Amino acid sequence: MSNLSHIGIGMTSLRTRERLITRLGEAGISDPEVLRVMRDLPRHLFVDEALASRAYEDSPLPIGHGQTISQPYMVARMTQALLAAGPMHTVLEVGTGSGFQTAVLAALVRRVYSIERIQSLQIRAQACLRLLQVRNVRFRHGDGFLGWPEYAPYDGILVTAAPRAVPRALADQLAPTGCLVLPMGEGDRQALVRVTRVPGGFAQQILEPVSFVPLLGGVA
Ligand code: SAH
Repeated sequence: MSNLSHIGIGMTSLRTRERLITRLGEAGISDPEVLRVMRDLPRHLFVDEALASRAYEDSPLPIGHGQTISQPYMVARMTQALLAAGPMHTVLEVGTGSGFQTAVLAALVRRVYSIERIQSLQIRAQACLRLLQVRNVRFRHGDGFLGWPEYAPYDGILVTAAPRAVPRALADQLAPTGCLVLPMGEGDRQALVRVTRVPGGFAQQILEPVSFVPLLGGVA
């Protein structure tokens, strides 16, 4: 993907963005590619204009329909956890939301497939990525519990809303040695988990406590 740092640069000073990147580094994000992409992407384009001035704070923000754009730290953390598992050519994202995490992935892997159950969010995210001239993403309005079998298997799957347990279809759509990064659990008992396909089964690793909106079945 081309360097996007020129888009909307008048909106927020470079200094504000640099402060966020410094904070991410201090919080343990060490992958230079992830930090580069987080610095270059104009996050303010993914939120409502009224919230644009807060887009480079390290916090989640509302995007409508009771959903949120994830905290920058969490986007970086999940991306780093996914990339650390090995080369990622095709990645499935469940929960497009604002499309910000989608854009981060698109800058780092060859192809992204992204599913969102709320159609109006999906349409807005798609328009945002078009504006940024991101062309390696395919969007789908659907239920992410089912994955996207047509393009499986995926080297990586990243889920941005929390199910109670690993959705079977997602595990099934992982390539050999592929990995799934997802928040899992209920209410205030959620953890970020990495599930890796290994010969004969899956290995599970708990990364850290998190707080995400629930993964919901069906479409809206
Ligand atoms: N990564 C997004 C996070 C949005 S919040 C961002 O930073 O903007 C999680 C998103 O998951 C919401 O948009 C919600 O509608 C979506 N979601 C929840 N359950 C889903 C499901 N079963 N299939 C697809 N999307 C789902």
